[in-house]
Amino acid sequence: MASGKWRRQTFVIALSVGLAAAAGGTIGVFIPGGTRVDVLLTAALAASVAAVAARLAIRRLRGHLTDAEDRYRELQTGVLDVIAEKQGLELLLSSMEEAVLLLDMEGRVLRSNATAVATLFPDEAEITGKVLREIVNHASLHTFVRRASDSVTSTDGETSFQDGGDRHFLARGTPIFSDGGQRVATLIVLHEVTRLRQLERVRTDFVANVSHELKTPITTIRGAVETLQDGALEDPAHAREFLNMIGRQATRLQAIVEDLLDLTRLENIDAQGAAELSSAVPAVIVEGAVNQCCPAAKKRDIRLELDLNSSERALCNPLLLEQAMVNLVVNAIRYTEAGGMVKVTVEVRGQLLALAVKDTGPGIAPEHHDRIFERFYRIDKGRSRAAGGTGLGLAIVKHVAQLHRGRVRLYSEVGKGSEFVLLLPRQATRD
Ligand code: ADP
Repeated sequence: MASGKWRRQTFVIALSVGLAAAAGGTIGVFIPGGTRVDVLLTAALAASVAAVAARLAIRRLRGHLTDAEDRYRELQTGVLDVIAEKQGLELLLSSMEEAVLLLDMEGRVLRSNATAVATLFPDEAEITGKVLREIVNHASLHTFVRRASDSVTSTDGETSFQDGGDRHFLARGTPIFSDGGQRVATLIVLHEVTRLRQLERVRTDFVANVSHELKTPITTIRGAVETLQDGALEDPAHAREFLNMIGRQATRLQAIVEDLLDLTRLENIDAQGAAELSSAVPAVIVEGAVNQCCPAAKKRDIRLELDLNSSERALCNPLLLEQAMVNLVVNAIRYTEAGGMVKVTVEVRGQLLALAVKDTGPGIAPEHHDRIFERFYRIDKGRSRAAGGTGLGLAIVKHVAQLHRGRVRLYSEVGKGSEFVLLLPRQATRD
């Protein structure tokens, strides 16, 4: 249509120019006098018509050009929008913590995001187009995918598999339909809950451990009270024995409850990142801790050797640090045979300050090193209980170290004693 209009326009221009040329040229040359003026006027008129027609044509041309430009710009913006949307979707998919898999009805992978690749197929170069069953060997995942593929509504479930350790996922399968209502794919989303499950287990174990720890002294106290009620109260020698037993178990209960409260307080401070730290000389704090332990060492005939001459400063919470060091020194005294030696030192190790407690005790076998800082973990339960231990001392030390942005290390071999080292970041000195 547009080309027809253009053709007509061109024809009018050509005709006008032709007329003008014919009038001004041919007739002007052969007819002299007044007649020439008329001819010239006709030529001028024709020329004007041609000029107007040409202007109109140019205006229309410009109009069409502007329309085309607008349309081009619209198209360009549209393309950019599509690219931006595609990139946005890619970005969204790739930044998701959840593993996302789009599977066709044969179980072939149509799309996947980076988390899915890292979680399920770390060794596969290209997974698009491959059948999930052939590239992944996790039975519980396949069971879930089969269930989700058979369902016409969303499916929720849980799946877990071994990958260096147990990994647990909440899974959701969503059916995808075409515009015509035909089932074409299944979207699988896996949300990892391994850490949550671990914490739940730690909590359940902890509650079970606490109940067990409290049950023993409570049972002993109840037994002693019943024996007294059954007549032992009338027998002064037995009565004293049972009263002492009740006293010892009550002290044990108190120690467990106090350690539990300390630990809970430390965990809360740790969780809120709100430990109050001030500049102090750790060697002075360590000396205070050792002084508290002197009577126990004397009682067990343990020699205390000290090297606390460091005047290095660190950001500390003096009360918590003292408590941690008391726990380490008490343990060293508790588990070292009478006549042994415990050495406490403070020294610089690079950017760290090392507060070390070394003993000549039985030593700790390597298989216990990783777990010894767990709550209620003991190598010899009977010995720990007999010595008044709660099983929480080292867990407290570990938390105190963390609150100081430090850590605690154990160096030990069976038969060669143990060394526990609390490492604190040194405070930068101003020159
Ligand atoms: P406990 O109250 O039982 O001492 P801890 O948490 O302080 O609890 O210590 C956990 C376990 O680590 C102890 O029961 C003991 O078996 C072992 N342990 C701690 N310190 C020493 C040490 N210096 N030498 C040998 N074993 C130790």
